[in-house]
Amino acid sequence: MNNPHWSARDLAVLWHPCTQMKDHEDFPPIPIRRGQGAWLEDFEGRRYLDAISSWWVNLFGHGHPYINAALKDQLDTLEHVLLAGFSHEPAILLAERLTWLAGLDRCFYADNGSSAVEVALKMSFHYWRNSGKPGKTRFIALSNSYHGETLGALAVGDVGLYKDTYAPLLLTPYTVQSPDCYLREPGQSWAGHSARSFAAMEAALAAHADEVCAVIVEPLVQCAGGMRMYDPIYLRLLRDACDRHGVHLIADEIAVGFGRTGTLFACEQAAIRPDFMCLSKGLTGGYLPLSCVLTTDAVYAAFYDEYEKLRAFLHSHSYTGNALACRAALATLDLFERENTLAHNRILARHLAEATAGLADHPQVAEVRQTGMILAIELVRDKASRTPYAWQERRGLRVYRHALERGALLRPLGNVIYFMPPYVIAPEEIRFLAEVAAEGIAIATQD
Ligand SMILES: *Cc1c(COP(=O)(O)O)cnc(C)c1O
Repeated sequence: MNNPHWSARDLAVLWHPCTQMKDHEDFPPIPIRRGQGAWLEDFEGRRYLDAISSWWVNLFGHGHPYINAALKDQLDTLEHVLLAGFSHEPAILLAERLTWLAGLDRCFYADNGSSAVEVALKMSFHYWRNSGKPGKTRFIALSNSYHGETLGALAVGDVGLYKDTYAPLLLTPYTVQSPDCYLREPGQSWAGHSARSFAAMEAALAAHADEVCAVIVEPLVQCAGGMRMYDPIYLRLLRDACDRHGVHLIADEIAVGFGRTGTLFACEQAAIRPDFMCLSKGLTGGYLPLSCVLTTDAVYAAFYDEYEKLRAFLHSHSYTGNALACRAALATLDLFERENTLAHNRILARHLAEATAGLADHPQVAEVRQTGMILAIELVRDKASRTPYAWQERRGLRVYRHALERGALLRPLGNVIYFMPPYVIAPEEIRFLAEVAAEGIAIATQD
């Protein structure tokens, strides 16, 4: 049973995420038979280097023996139990470790990233309501942000391609200009640009704090918005301003958490503690869907009361705190310690920078930027004016197809080609990716 067999059966019944299915008429989805380390293998034995960690979730490679063993053990013990009125060891151990690592106090589980964002938005609103401030009903979000696809999460995001169609259904946040350093003036530093951008946030908070529950941000890297990056100083200014104006800070670390930016959590680089931290994606090492919102004792206390007062947070998902998923997350955290991952990643990050350094001079590359284990290459039609290619040209798609032919899974975001590899990638594999990306860029920009 080869690739065409499975592709045909797939196309007869599946509807794929984030896909115009008609694209598959001439380019069917690739059926994957197995995964090992940083590599995926299809039904004809062709291998693909997973340069984007299967949508940013995989940290230690596919089929990791340590996570596999933990899951097999958990499978024979307890696969799942409801988390209301009951509890289990992996959920408790994981909550202990995550709160300790993040410097927060309470862990509320959900089962995917968007749901965690919904939980944080609802909790913040509900906190103010329980605290005698029912007039706080709005949120502040950054331009070009992404927080997921469910209606609440979509509403606080700002990627038009995903959001505009559904505008009539959505909450309306205040949107403030992102500190995105791609937009800085020539010669300006990241810190200088990010700090200067904060004026817009300060003004929005000053004008609207009375009706605003929380500011929600993706710390340091706006991933789905094209891997746009900013300096930690913005987060320090934001923490301070949220405190002064009596507004919560929600840190959506769903994509940037677990070592992606160089520290375990991106907020550490600004030495700040958010009121809510959303985690998912890498949380289980890319094995199982799980998410959580970490928060403070102060937030928790505002819900703690007699049942009749109706102040409880009556939110749940069926698979909340699933035991298998929590066990995979515990094994993943073990690996960070056993393998000294953050130190190892500093070496890998250097290899990423070195392997791609030459691309900055390409006439159609506006910028090569990097934060830790995320490296992005921005293609433009005109370098001097930074005029982008029209989205309809789908230049990134040409890179994607070339990379697949060469045995690499690079899935650009529009005109942005990026690497966000599993932490088990080898330096020679990084050089291979850079080579494939350079070829792809040459092909994609030749006319
Ligand atoms: C992926 C992502 C989400 C949504 O997570 P899902 O599990 O896909 O619902 C939310 N926020 C950020 C920053 C993300 O990258």
